[in-house]
Amino acid sequence: MKLILLGAPGAGKGTVAKLLTKHDGSVQISTGDILRVAVANNTDLGREAKGFMDAGDLVPDSLIMGIMEQRLQESDCDKGFLLDGFPRTIPQAEDLMKLLDKLNIKLDMAVEIDVPRDVILDRLTTRRTCENGDCQEIYNIKSNPPKVEGICDKCGSAAVQRADETTEAITHRLNTYNEKTAPLVDFYDGKGLLVSVKATDSEVVVKAITDKL
Ligand code: AMP
Repeated sequence: MKLILLGAPGAGKGTVAKLLTKHDGSVQISTGDILRVAVANNTDLGREAKGFMDAGDLVPDSLIMGIMEQRLQESDCDKGFLLDGFPRTIPQAEDLMKLLDKLNIKLDMAVEIDVPRDVILDRLTTRRTCENGDCQEIYNIKSNPPKVEGICDKCGSAAVQRADETTEAITHRLNTYNEKTAPLVDFYDGKGLLVSVKATDSEVVVKAITDKL
């Protein structure tokens, strides 16, 4: 399947993408994960992106399109891909359409995961992420804590609160989402590609998506 997952930070895009990869081997492509690995490895891309990310601002479109142009041409995308956190602006969405045309790839749909703001705020402030760039497993101290507090079950690295998940940065990210990313819902609706799912349970979202395919 070839999908775009839309939704505010904390809507569950990453969790839904991980569940969907098990269906048909489609790969999850998270620009946030790619950028966090670049920051951890202190690459040129990481150094350029870090300031924007820590502040909860979007990284410039040109950097993101550079990453995606390369990533979508890797062979593991042949089976399908789940775009998690990309596109995030109208210019990114327009450039993605051009890129997919060039690569002769047809999208199945853009799925909007619609979750109430109070649920999102609660989820993000209680979320913990494994700081090992190769793992990045996600926990929640209320609903899905690691077996040992602060330690990733999968790889033993520290499971920490992300720098952009303080209440201040989260509020800023949500405002940025409303201003820059929410307009993509109408963009994809206009192209007949939008599927909107109102659900807080990721399994319910996954079922709604697989039913549509
Ligand atoms: P995420 O893990 O998707 O919440 O992304 C974390 C941060 O990475 C965002 O707050 C942005 O600073 C940056 N980022 C991720 N994806 C994009 C994108 N498509 N466009 C611009 N910035 C992005």
